[in-house]
Amino acid sequence: MNLVLMGLPGAGKGTQAEKIVEKYGIPHISTGDMFRAAIKEGTELGLQAKSFMDKGDLVPDEVTIGIVRERLSKDDCNKGFLLDGFPRTVAQAEALENILSDLNKKINFVINIDVDKEILMERLTGRRICKSCGSTYHLVFNPPANVGVCDRCGGELYQRADDNSETVQNRLEVNLKQTQPLLDFYETKGYLRNINGQQDIHKVFDDLDQLLGSLNA
Ligand SMILES: [Zn+2]
Repeated sequence: MNLVLMGLPGAGKGTQAEKIVEKYGIPHISTGDMFRAAIKEGTELGLQAKSFMDKGDLVPDEVTIGIVRERLSKDDCNKGFLLDGFPRTVAQAEALENILSDLNKKINFVINIDVDKEILMERLTGRRICKSCGSTYHLVFNPPANVGVCDRCGGELYQRADDNSETVQNRLEVNLKQTQPLLDFYETKGYLRNINGQQDIHKVFDDLDQLLGSLNA
């Protein structure tokens, strides 16, 4: 099963990726891991990527795409793969189609874990951290017994600057803008499957599992 996993920050993509990998035994291929591995192995593309990253520059598409091609050509992808964080643009999605066609493969599903923006805002802005011991809480999912006070040590809870609503709203909007053309591309191709990510984590996986089970039937 050849899968691409998509979802906005806070949609629960990481959790579901872990569950898919555990159940179906396919490699989880995230962009970061792929770069780190190529650099560690010292492949020519890995070294090129490193030279850009060392300068603080974005790695150009041709290098990224080359690294994806190398990774998907490895034996452990024969049973399938779960791509996460790639593609990010329609140009990369088109390059991925070419790579897979050269390898005699195709995408089975592009899974989009779908959660309303308002709910993502609630999930992403609810985190609170203890100033003294670093324990983390969530106002909705894991609230402290007393408002603003750490259960463990009585320390004061605060919100990280990254978690404030303006920053989170911006991050979501940038992501949405970037993701929509990609979703449209995959919808047209007939690969896109939306999974309701607003349910309990286990129910989200049940839905995914049912979808993936249909491939083996
Ligand atoms: Zn504490």
